Amino acid sequence: MAEIRNRVDKKKLVDFLKNLGIDVHFDTKARGNAGFCTGSRIDISKNLSDEKAKDVLLHEFAHFVHFKLEPDIAKSHGTLEKLFDTDEKLIVDEIENELFQITLIVFNGETTRRIKALKENLGQKIKAEREIIKKYYPNFQVGEKFKEFNKYVRFSSAKYLLKYDKVIVRGGWFTMDTTISVKTVEDDFPKMPEAFVAYIRMKSYERHRNRINARNGRINRYLKQPTELFARFFQFYCFDIDGAKMLAPVSVRRFEKLFAENYYPFLREFFDVCVAEDFD
Ligand SMILES: [Zn+2]
Repeated sequence: MAEIRNRVDKKKLVDFLKNLGIDVHFDTKARGNAGFCTGSRIDISKNLSDEKAKDVLLHEFAHFVHFKLEPDIAKSHGTLEKLFDTDEKLIVDEIENELFQITLIVFNGETTRRIKALKENLGQKIKAEREIIKKYYPNFQVGEKFKEFNKYVRFSSAKYLLKYDKVIVRGGWFTMDTTISVKTVEDDFPKMPEAFVAYIRMKSYERHRNRINARNGRINRYLKQPTELFARFFQFYCFDIDGAKMLAPVSVRRFEKLFAENYYPFLREFFDVCVAEDFD
């Protein structure tokens, strides 16, 4: 069976959207995304191939359908309850799980893999520095105050390196400004004991890891927005129905039932107008 996306006539889809009062643009950078959709406008990035543009158009169309279902999605990002017309928590949770699996495939997991590798690498570095500290201070505990270190740096500019990777230390009357950094800490403070150098480095790696975690959290929150889950689901459903049925059986069943009941605004019209019959 030919997949839906291959039976979609892109020109017909664009005309269809325009007839619904949507401004469709293919000549912008789509605010740096592959595409975006407001209630009255859809932009598809000009940097995409024709095939990719069609996938993104289907994705943005799904946002539009959702927008008609929940007009405040720009603020709330919508709800799976409304998208799949159910209040049963178990079903909603299952749908969320399934749709996130699809998300990982649509995104091919490259970013996720890279972030994971980066975190593992930092984790190893943190461990190595901790071992150096423990060589001299066996009672040292991560997360607890390192009194000996604090005492040592009390009057030293080295204490700034616990917060920043690089600091300019202003000179006095007869001294120049100097730059100190985590990278060059051994040269900047030649007398500093090895354990304290290791502590400064460890803290820097920890900061780095915290930043990655925060960014990762933001990405995940975006990926899990119901409206994004739904748009990616629809995009994938058009791309590979059998795959969608396998990966997301509960979601597909509900989606098809609701579709048959004409629950989704303009979706039936979309199939009638833009999707060619399958003659196989
Ligand atoms: Zn989207």
